[in-house]
Amino acid sequence: MIKTDILIIGAGPTGLFAVFEAGLLQLKCHLIDALPQPGGQCSEIYPKKPIYDIPGYPEVLAGDLVDNLMEQIKPFQPGFTLGERAETIEKLEDDTFIVTTNKGTKHHAPVVAIAGGLGSFEPRKPLLDNLSKYEDNGVAYMIKEPEVYRDKKVLIAGGGDSALDWSIFLADVASEVTLVHRRNEFRGALDSVEKVQQLKNEGKINLITPAEVVGLKGEETLEMVSVKDTSTDEVTDIEVDNFIPLFGLSPKLGPIGDWGLEIEKNAIKVDNTLDYQTNIPGIYAIGDVNTYPGKLKLILCGFHEATLMCQSAYQRIFPDKKYVMKYTTVGGVTGFDGSKKEAPKAVVKAID
Ligand SMILES: Cc1cc2nc3c(=O)[nH]c(=O)nc-3n(C[C@H](O)[C@H](O)[C@H](O)COP(=O)(O)OP(=O)(O)OC[C@H]3O[C@@H](n4cnc5c(N)ncnc54)[C@H](O)[C@@H]3O)c2cc1C
Repeated sequence: MIKTDILIIGAGPTGLFAVFEAGLLQLKCHLIDALPQPGGQCSEIYPKKPIYDIPGYPEVLAGDLVDNLMEQIKPFQPGFTLGERAETIEKLEDDTFIVTTNKGTKHHAPVVAIAGGLGSFEPRKPLLDNLSKYEDNGVAYMIKEPEVYRDKKVLIAGGGDSALDWSIFLADVASEVTLVHRRNEFRGALDSVEKVQQLKNEGKINLITPAEVVGLKGEETLEMVSVKDTSTDEVTDIEVDNFIPLFGLSPKLGPIGDWGLEIEKNAIKVDNTLDYQTNIPGIYAIGDVNTYPGKLKLILCGFHEATLMCQSAYQRIFPDKKYVMKYTTVGGVTGFDGSKKEAPKAVVKAID
């Protein structure tokens, strides 16, 4: 069981910055994200797009903003459960929570902050009869750890950047890489398309277009993928260890929608007059996932909401301690690991 002070669901910019604000108050955080990497929409949808409305940055690439946030929260040593979706929540008698993921990982915390953005990004799956039989038995929809594919025969399907980039990357890792796409043209970046073409010419990628995967075979684990050449309708069985359809991800509020929270237009209603708490005390919702009068879905607003949430979370965790926040400073504090590394800390004035 993973234990923490604030369990943050969603490692987008809002969730990441919440770790910093919590750390200033000496609260530990653990983040769960369905994606294999932190950064939410910034990493998944537009890492190379410049953002112009982050205070202090006239211009910053979304991917660089995420890197900077990760650097900023490093002293506070957050824990991460990545590539797993928060599925269920249970409130215990002492008003703390246990959140369990779709892979069964359990997290225990007195405060849960949902920073789930547009929702968890769910993979678009191909329509194949026995697909679910091979999920985690040869079929995967995202690549969490490329080393898993070392010396394996891998078949990737898709025509976007993910399919192209991973085919290029795995060409040096897997023993065999086959890329199947239903069109001859790809949607991904031109230089990636050219690189795939080059690797095909060098015999490092087996490129099959226009084609689609029409069947999966194997006793218990995946052994064979049937690929149909859509220009001739000819079907060929290809021996594989892994099939990775990369057809994109679509966000869904998903299981959080069934947690008894007040939902309005696919977003979680919160009290914006105080602390972004939901209708369930101890569960907060911050960033794009929440709604209140005048809500703006901007990174800047998520940062603000995360800051106020942490103040309220502190009071919930330490109901007997009363303080007034003065300002944030740096230095003079030992890192969470007890080392001499200095972590920023909030200057607070005790009033009790
Ligand atoms: C193309 C584009 C351009 C944009 N440009 C700007 C801009 O210039 N300036 C600006 O301020 N904003 C911009 N935005 C909006 C900005 O990206 C969002 O406001 C911001 O990403 C919200 O951050 P967040 O952390 O709240 O949510 P997200 O970034 O959506 O992150 C939420 C995370 O929660 C995870 N999650 C959700 N549910 C679960 C679950 N059940 N279990 C586990 N994980 C879960 C998701 O996988 C995701 O990683 C842009 C958005 C897009 C799409």
